[in-house]
Amino acid sequence: MAHTITLIPGDGIGPEVADATRRVLEAAGVKIDWDVQEAGAAVAEKRGTTLPDEVLASVRRNKVALKGPIGTPIGKGFRSVNVTLRQALDLYANVRPVRSLPGIEPRFEGTDIVIVRENTEDLYAGLELMIMPGVAQSMKLITERACTRICEYAFDYAERMGRKRVTVVHKANIMKLSDGLLLESFRKVAQKHPRIEPAEVIVDACAMNMVRNANKLDVIVTENLYGDILSDLGAGLVGGLGIVPGANIGVEAAVFEAVHGTAPDIAGKGIANPTALIQSAVMMLHHLDEHTAASKIERGLLTTFERGTRTTDLGGSAGTDEFTRALCEAIGRA
Ligand code: NAD
Repeated sequence: MAHTITLIPGDGIGPEVADATRRVLEAAGVKIDWDVQEAGAAVAEKRGTTLPDEVLASVRRNKVALKGPIGTPIGKGFRSVNVTLRQALDLYANVRPVRSLPGIEPRFEGTDIVIVRENTEDLYAGLELMIMPGVAQSMKLITERACTRICEYAFDYAERMGRKRVTVVHKANIMKLSDGLLLESFRKVAQKHPRIEPAEVIVDACAMNMVRNANKLDVIVTENLYGDILSDLGAGLVGGLGIVPGANIGVEAAVFEAVHGTAPDIAGKGIANPTALIQSAVMMLHHLDEHTAASKIERGLLTTFERGTRTTDLGGSAGTDEFTRALCEAIGRA
């Protein structure tokens, strides 16, 4: 039976990497009816909104979406589509596996961290005001409900995926109330999961640990802002933004998207690395219980990288199309 999935190609390199990902899913033999929806800067000019109502309705209806990056026009009064989607659909857990791939020189061999980032509140709630001319205030909103929910997700994920340790990343030594709430919730949830080792680290120390020896980390659970920064740091450790995937998980729906943005500097040049969105699609296939097709793509990616076919961001010479063709061929033989 075919899955009906919302596809939001997005802006910049989005349509290029989305097209590559569709081809790869087809090569893996998954039957998908794509419900293609436009959102982002291009739509804003035509429709006066970056997120037309039918896009949200489509994700609500199909429950699963694959999404390209979307740019937010700066200073034009548009809200970020990404933040709006996450809040409107209550996509509370942002899961970002940071893994090294063969043939790409990572800083550390065998890096395998999963960052579970709270996706709905913190400084991203967008609660900002000018108190007086020259003085701006941004509200960091943290609730016990969201902290407990994200910690439960991280421990459940660790158990489900056979992981050993969950580390909470915080700054409760300074933000005793807000980050203190995360720490308290983490400790309570940890007690219910005796098979998983709990660990605590302050965010600045975590950044240093990741750069010095990323392999000491397993699953990380953290707030929205720290998670955003640490996942880009993690991407840098394993070869850059071109390869790191992500999933936004909620109770009603899940939206799969790469960590990277619209990459305006390379958009339209046919050189974008589609691996990050392809790996996001692999996460989507696991979510849909299409494990055989997911493994086929994973094996195909390993073969393609082992053979040295790489896009320019990874020091290779393949364009998006050449890389995708090589991958589809490897999947065909997997
Ligand atoms: P970016 O991720 O778009 O680009 C950073 C650098 O990484 C650039 O040099 C780019 O060429 C490179 N890069 C990123 N993805 C790549 C890929 N797949 N292949 C090869 N190289 C790649 O970050 P930015 O420049 O800070 O942001 C650009 C726009 O994207 C902004 O409007 C931002 O708001 C938006 N953005 C959207 C999302 C999202 O939709 N989830 C996430 C981050 C940024």
